[in-house]
Amino acid sequence: GTRQLLVRIDDYVADLFAPQDEALEAARRDSAEAGLPAISVSAAQGRLLQLLAGISGARRALEIGTLGGYSAIHLARGLAPGGTLLTLELEERHAEVARRNLERAGLSERVEVRVGDARTSLAALADAGVEPFDLVFIDADKDGYPDYLEASLRLSRPGTLLLADNTLRDGRVLDPTDTSTAAIREFNQRLAADPRVEAVVLPLLREKVDGIAIARVVG
Ligand code: SAM
Repeated sequence: GTRQLLVRIDDYVADLFAPQDEALEAARRDSAEAGLPAISVSAAQGRLLQLLAGISGARRALEIGTLGGYSAIHLARGLAPGGTLLTLELEERHAEVARRNLERAGLSERVEVRVGDARTSLAALADAGVEPFDLVFIDADKDGYPDYLEASLRLSRPGTLLLADNTLRDGRVLDPTDTSTAAIREFNQRLAADPRVEAVVLPLLREKVDGIAIARVVG
């Protein structure tokens, strides 16, 4: 059927443009062996994150939702020379797997995995008055997306690139029947209406239709 064709197309693109080296393969394998859920970005999406990090020239990046560090490896690889990534994760168990995966990828100097509820970590960063981030990737609990948008904007400057995964949810955002999808719908609406950003949501097709939000902070 159509979905099977979409999977074949995504595999075709991934095989061509997102070959998995030893560090990426090991990250996936070890995450699975440690019992982490298989909910990281796809290979092609990882490639997209790496490209967007490079295109934006980001040196300071922030990720909300680390899991096993698969997307973090891509983001960190895309950063400008000397760039750093701070990635926030609730579960100590996930963070430990991520740290090992980042170490093996040779990125532990450039990436810090910080454990705790991202809401708390983000508030602490804002309170500490840290230098604004050049890129923020939101990929944690979906209920938190509206809060994460607000927190990300507080940690941004004009030109910051904001990215968020899972913003279409197989079309369920059209008519949400659960709170986390309702939160994503709220996130999309705020992102579209907020005068501080220019944004779009791009559909990503595989077994499901999901989306990535891409926004540029303008003021
Ligand atoms: N970005 C990862 C990747 O593509 O490799 C996938 C992240 S996974 C979809 C979401 C992660 O967010 C999980 O590891 C989960 O434990 C974490 N998470 C959930 N709620 C959180 C919270 N309140 N603060 C920080 N992290 C949270």
